[in-house]
Amino acid sequence: MLGWRFRKSISLGRFFRINLSKKGVGASVGVPGFRIGVGADGKVRRTVSIPGTGLYKTEVLSKGASTSRACPECGKRVGAKDSYCRSCGARLE
Ligand SMILES: [Zn+2]
Repeated sequence: MLGWRFRKSISLGRFFRINLSKKGVGASVGVPGFRIGVGADGKVRRTVSIPGTGLYKTEVLSKGASTSRACPECGKRVGAKDSYCRSCGARLE
């Protein structure tokens, strides 16, 4: 069994899909040949494929949610759980 990974997809309607994996739950929307979605790791990915060929490529459009927050005042990166910006002291949502 070594090397096996669990992965399951549930289709909701024509374009929406829920992806279940060991890491958690992700979701994506798309049409044959093009999908965009959020993975269980919080990263947004765009997948372009050629239907019927099995060929596809995936691009990560953003980093995980925990690293993508920025201070609204100074624009510097802040931690996901920080209440105040460490650079300028602005209050964070
Ligand atoms: Zn700041």
